[in-house]
Amino acid sequence: MTELLTVKDILSPLAPSPEDAELITRAFTFAEKAHEGQKRYSGEPYLNHLAHVAKMLAEIGMGAQTVAAGLLHDSVEDTAVTEEELRTEFGDEIFFLVQGVTKLGSVRYYGSDRHNESLRKLFVATSQDIRVLIIKLIDRLHNMQTLQYVPAEKQLRIARETLEIYVPVTHRLGMGLIRKQLEDLAFPYVYPKEHERVINLIKPLAKKGDVELEKNRKSLQKRLAESSILDFRTSYRLKGTYSLFQKLKRREWDMDKIHDYLAMRIIVSNIEQCYQVLGIVHELWRPLPKRVKDYIAFPKPNGYQSLHTTVIAPNSTIFEVQIRTDAMHRDAEYGIASHIIYKNQHTEGSENQKGEKTWFASLVPTLFRPFVWRAKNSAEQHIQLLSESNHKIRIPHWIQEIAGAHKNGDESNEFFGGLKEDFFSYRMFVFTPEGDVVDLPVGASPIDFAYAIHSDIGDHTAGAKVNKKLVGLDTKLNNGDIVEIIKNKNNKPTAKWLDYAKTSIARRKIRASLSEQKATVRNF
Ligand code: MN
Repeated sequence: MTELLTVKDILSPLAPSPEDAELITRAFTFAEKAHEGQKRYSGEPYLNHLAHVAKMLAEIGMGAQTVAAGLLHDSVEDTAVTEEELRTEFGDEIFFLVQGVTKLGSVRYYGSDRHNESLRKLFVATSQDIRVLIIKLIDRLHNMQTLQYVPAEKQLRIARETLEIYVPVTHRLGMGLIRKQLEDLAFPYVYPKEHERVINLIKPLAKKGDVELEKNRKSLQKRLAESSILDFRTSYRLKGTYSLFQKLKRREWDMDKIHDYLAMRIIVSNIEQCYQVLGIVHELWRPLPKRVKDYIAFPKPNGYQSLHTTVIAPNSTIFEVQIRTDAMHRDAEYGIASHIIYKNQHTEGSENQKGEKTWFASLVPTLFRPFVWRAKNSAEQHIQLLSESNHKIRIPHWIQEIAGAHKNGDESNEFFGGLKEDFFSYRMFVFTPEGDVVDLPVGASPIDFAYAIHSDIGDHTAGAKVNKKLVGLDTKLNNGDIVEIIKNKNNKPTAKWLDYAKTSIARRKIRASLSEQKATVRNF
């Protein structure tokens, strides 16, 4: 069982305004009533799952609307509460967040790589508000924390889904802390033997490492203070078991070839100090050759920034030292979520939650609007704006990563082209009633959808339901729609369908069928 939480536990990391506190308390009471009598596999009241999700959302710095949505995230799906009630009681924004989480909940895992890729895209695409995705990730985190209580036959599926879908998403969004937790929670279920092997390898190191790092940390703190660097924090960490497993596989399972199992972190207030501290560290301890990595000048593709070096302390402990600024640290731990935090602290002010808005829009005004939304900008303008951005604002690299922009070094047009493409201008993602994902261009109709699934379904389409309602075949589908095709084996494509179809595959199949029909008529 996880600890039983009260509304106070959720409010305490937030320092909320009276209105925020009222909102969250109201959501708590609402959820308590809605889920009354429901229990988790662990035997604890269902409410406690919601409270843990809300508390973690508060801890990573999300606003009151998101925290409230965390409390309500299962209420439409699992209780008698209707969408209307939720909307009336909590307004459009919270309603939208809960609805988004509910929709993402119907995504299923089938295990093929192709499918994983589309799921990952789907995560990005249907989460037009990134907060939906963050709630979903935290929801999964708590479900993983309580996986031991879930029936054994379900555990493996859930753990594998976590590793193959949720973890890559956290990686892409740079949410290192949540990624590590999800990985290490899933690891023993998915690879029990390998997990045991890793645990046995690190057993002798973990204890000793703790003690040694603590000693070394003290001597470093002293040296930093002597160099009049006073504003710093140090901590240390052990590498996550799953991440260690990945590395061991590439290093013949030889712990002597792993130099970052132990790591010390030094967090300072600016970039200049990062390099200064690197010098001090190298003066204090002997660095291993060729182990200095400057991820500040050359960030990792997901935006990670730090200076890394590996050193040998006098007691011959080898460990990695990671040096970074506060902002880099927040980025590394919370990724995309930290950008929302930043926004909340710096521009929302007394306007309270109003500015929380959609995640992309929340970044756009300060970072992207000049170049992203002016779709018809000339190439020169793109370049000019890009160079401007190099001076004033750093484009978060996770956005470049999502856009897949920096493959061939041409960051100007392709970068923005890729961004637009990924952010719903051209593509959308719709679901089958079973939760499978279909990737279609904007403006696509049920006909495109039917042919995307199978030409036989396309050829015999008789009607379509979108979100359970019957619609015409000329209906334009929207991102996130659930589409069901009604088949009739006597039905055949008509020339009109060519007007409805946007995709080339559908149009080709329709033409083929039309000419076949003509040929049949002639033969009679
Ligand atoms: Mn849940």
